[in-house]
Amino acid sequence: MITIDNLYKRFDKLEVLKGVNLSIEKGKTAVIIGPSGSGKTTLLRCLNLLEIPDKGTIVLGNKTLNIAENSRLKQSEIVSFRKQTGMVFQNYSLFPHLTAIENVMEGQVTVLKRSKDESRKKALSLLEKVGLRDRADMYPFQLSGGQQQRVGIARAMAMDPEVLLFDEPTSALDPELVGEVLKVMKDLANEGMTMVVVTHEMKFASEAADQVIFMDGGVVVEKGTPEEVLNVPKNPRTMQFLNKVT
Ligand code: ADP
Repeated sequence: MITIDNLYKRFDKLEVLKGVNLSIEKGKTAVIIGPSGSGKTTLLRCLNLLEIPDKGTIVLGNKTLNIAENSRLKQSEIVSFRKQTGMVFQNYSLFPHLTAIENVMEGQVTVLKRSKDESRKKALSLLEKVGLRDRADMYPFQLSGGQQQRVGIARAMAMDPEVLLFDEPTSALDPELVGEVLKVMKDLANEGMTMVVVTHEMKFASEAADQVIFMDGGVVVEKGTPEEVLNVPKNPRTMQFLNKVT
């Protein structure tokens, strides 16, 4: 479903991704871990072209993007590639002036050109799925952080993406609200959604990931099953990181 080959990204003089290689199968959940500043978020943002990589290849679903150095992607190319992904952000990024259901409808109406009726139906069923059917008409400020993030997940799902991308989805939440968001994510993983999750939640990684990817210094240092990477890491940098966080 996803293959990334030799991906590079720099911000001015700072080289952040230095030749990233990985692949994720359809229906599987990959969790990306690694120290702060190692390029995890940048990699995720490159996957949906919120950041444009400098060079490399991304295969996502049935689309292949070959980015050569100093080439420019067309806006239409970016939009059609991005449509395959749904993104869940650290700080939810809901529209504050729209209710929960309107947030979940918005992209369906404006990007996918679905009718309001159809979008509303889909939004309601997704809000039901994340346990927020009864909060549909509330505004973000009337919801807890955990509820807002669940709306964020419903909004990402509403676009029928091939892949869901999560950028530290629980790190802005009070500890007691983390569980409800992780539960929704686990349910999605069990239902066969393809997911890439950047997180510091090691318990989630060990319970829900099919693959754990450890990044450091802009490259993938180690990848494998949760047992392999978290329990018997081979690389000293992985060991050092795990010793610090667990
Ligand atoms: P991680 O998610 O692993 O913490 P990031 O991908 O967020 O790492 O960041 C990697 C490095 O890239 C950091 O040094 C960060 O400051 C830098 N960086 C990220 N985004 C930008 C940007 N838009 N402009 C300049 N530097 C950036």
